Amino acid sequence: MAKISEKCSFCGRSKKEVDLLITGLDANICNFCVEQACEITRESAKKSSPNGLGMNKKDLPKPVEIKKFLDQYVIGQDNAKKTLSVAVYNHYKRLLQNMDDDDVEIEKSNIIMVGSTGTGKTLLAKTIARLLHVPFTIVDATVLTEAGYVGEDIESILTRLLQVSEYDVKAAERGIVFIDEIDKIARKSDNPSITRDVSGEGVQQGLLKLLEGSVINVPPQGGRKHPDQKMIPVDTKNILFICGGAFDGIERKIANRLNTRVVGYAAAKIKDKVDADNLLQYISPQDLKSFGLIPEIIGRLPMLCYLNELDRDALRQILTEPKNSIIKQYVKLFAMDHINLTFEEAVFEFIVDKAVEFKLGARGLRSIVETVMIDIMFEMPSSGEKELHITLEYVKNKFQNMNIEKLKAA
Ligand code: ADP
Repeated sequence: MAKISEKCSFCGRSKKEVDLLITGLDANICNFCVEQACEITRESAKKSSPNGLGMNKKDLPKPVEIKKFLDQYVIGQDNAKKTLSVAVYNHYKRLLQNMDDDDVEIEKSNIIMVGSTGTGKTLLAKTIARLLHVPFTIVDATVLTEAGYVGEDIESILTRLLQVSEYDVKAAERGIVFIDEIDKIARKSDNPSITRDVSGEGVQQGLLKLLEGSVINVPPQGGRKHPDQKMIPVDTKNILFICGGAFDGIERKIANRLNTRVVGYAAAKIKDKVDADNLLQYISPQDLKSFGLIPEIIGRLPMLCYLNELDRDALRQILTEPKNSIIKQYVKLFAMDHINLTFEEAVFEFIVDKAVEFKLGARGLRSIVETVMIDIMFEMPSSGEKELHITLEYVKNKFQNMNIEKLKAA
């Protein structure tokens, strides 16, 4: 075989001019050309598939598969997982729908998730994002204000989406947006007020425009709008919105509704069946209205799901079972230093007991583990040791010196 020259056969650069030259049977390719070829392949895949999605109908993950994927990372919360799986699946189907051969247009169904803080709403949204081939962003409703007030304009939500889509408007127009803390823009009472409600209703009205699908002029760099800034029009018709909120106190509204709906003998029978410890499972759009969301917004968030409080069992599982559980992350961190990290089983029970005792929730698990591990993390990499076993005694000792208030604030 003739010896091939040490040049890239595509761009002609010599071996010295590139970082890497890969040699084939009778041609070479450099790292620059590999990258360019990748880009071309990706673009071409996007173009050849309907709506530029880069996937076609048979590659579409089915709801059961989407849920299985979520199960690897999120413990429990089946109601929310199922709703999300179906909504995301339908979102894809809508995007893949060939608009010209059919007059039935599938409308999008935005989602609202209700559940206490720290029960996994953001985690669910982030996990869905891992699976997706569409732009995804998380925004916080608390920073939004009506145009003209201090804070961010509603349009800034789309600025973020544009940024993660690298300003590819077509890609942004089929993305997914997670709006956290939607309950914080509820109006303060169920009665529409006659005075202006800067933080609540005005923002909801603004949000409505986005949710119902319209062309919005978006400031490309975010921030306040000013007259000379060039706007980018973005159509929100196909953007899927997932909203999440703790809705503190909504159980009371649910209880009121359940109590007042029926009276007399039938009421007594229904009351017997109601599981008073978990009222969230009975949540209905009416309760969101009582809480202070305007009916138009509720109408645009037809998929309503709830997340359960995490009990002791769930916390125990969260500590070690998810694919990237906090314990697995530590084992990996140490493995990178060639240290085999193991724990006495009782350590896990102790950590969970403390998280329950001090009402620290799932976030507390992480703070406890981090505080316990900090000294070891500091010393071990330079110690030269290859085995590390964390005992209950060690953890108890560390826990005694912990500042619980600081953990609660974490
Ligand atoms: P929320 O958005 O509901 O306030 P997060 O999703 O931010 O709560 O949860 C905080 C952290 O707690 C997550 O990063 C995760 O580590 C853990 N966590 C909460 N709920 C779950 C769950 N159901 N399964 C696994 N981990 C969870």
